[in-house]
Amino acid sequence: MTPTRAALADGSGGFTIGTIAVGQPGPGEVLVEIRAAGLCHTDHASLRWNRPLVMGHEGAGVVRSVGAGVGTVRPGDRVVLNWAIPCGHCFQCLRGDEVLCETSRPAHVMERSAGHAHADGTQWKGRPIDRSFNLGTLCGLALVRHEAVTPLPEGIPWSSACIVGCGVMTGFGSVVNVARVAKGGSVVVIGCGGVGLNVIQAARLCGAGRIVAVDLHDAGLDRARQFGATETVLARRDDTGLELAAAEVRARLGGRGADYAFEATAVPALAFAPLAMVRDGGMALQLSGINDPVTVDMPRFMWNKHYITPLYGGCRPARDFPRIFAHYLAGELRLDELVTRTYELGELGMAFEDLLGGRIAKGVVVF
Ligand SMILES: [Zn+2]
Ligand SMILES: [Zn+2]
Repeated sequence: MTPTRAALADGSGGFTIGTIAVGQPGPGEVLVEIRAAGLCHTDHASLRWNRPLVMGHEGAGVVRSVGAGVGTVRPGDRVVLNWAIPCGHCFQCLRGDEVLCETSRPAHVMERSAGHAHADGTQWKGRPIDRSFNLGTLCGLALVRHEAVTPLPEGIPWSSACIVGCGVMTGFGSVVNVARVAKGGSVVVIGCGGVGLNVIQAARLCGAGRIVAVDLHDAGLDRARQFGATETVLARRDDTGLELAAAEVRARLGGRGADYAFEATAVPALAFAPLAMVRDGGMALQLSGINDPVTVDMPRFMWNKHYITPLYGGCRPARDFPRIFAHYLAGELRLDELVTRTYELGELGMAFEDLLGGRIAKGVVVF
């Protein structure tokens, strides 16, 4: 076992920086030296998942060693981690919907799933400890299943690469894989943070004709324009359900609304807000994974409107990550500009304050 520093959630709202011990990879597993780990709101939520965890689910680093039967990567390879870790043989994996794998559960389930490395591989205070999303990237060494790593080409900084594993993939994939935004189509994006900005730049890549960004803050709208929004709507703070903003959006788009509207705010009251911004037969997508009870007037769905809550942008890492890296290397997709600030592991508390205070698009811990 090798000791390494890690951010450890206590399960009841707090965390500590401590030392864990990480073992050698078993069959089908990979040991990765983490170089950078991005932060999501989900990492803050993971503090309350009722058990101790090695935190973090966005990461990039160098392969240190591989277990038996791993042919996809070798020691020394640069890799990015993904949290949809398909088993490859369940009902959903066989029909090509790997992100919905039935035996590898990514988030806050109590028991370890098939996506996790072997039970004793990561220990804290002499006992096995689980890794958040089967990854646990906020530590020096991540022991993961080989399906959780994708090779990373040269020329992409660690801090820009690590965020591809969740925030970038969620925004990009929801546009490209789920909505399949058509050339010339009209798009509305509610919320211009880490996910919303990737919706905007993916819509631009798809050749969307109009991309309308909606946000509460001028700073968010400035970022939106830099990432490809063609126009912006500054929402009023007292417009809680965004009714006024929706009327403005519809008026600008021929009175009928957009072909696609994406919600990326994580505000429960806005779960159905995109429905009021799409035309009849249009598509509303809620990307925040909202769990809270929310009421909705059924006429919002009229007529023939589609409402989808895509998971992880329909991620298939072997297909999607190389596409994202290629767009970045061709200068067509911005990643560096998404990382507002980097932190050391000991500054995690400050990083959470910045994230929750809306001061940063993405924060990254570097090792
Ligand atoms: Zn995330
Ligand atoms: Zn599966």
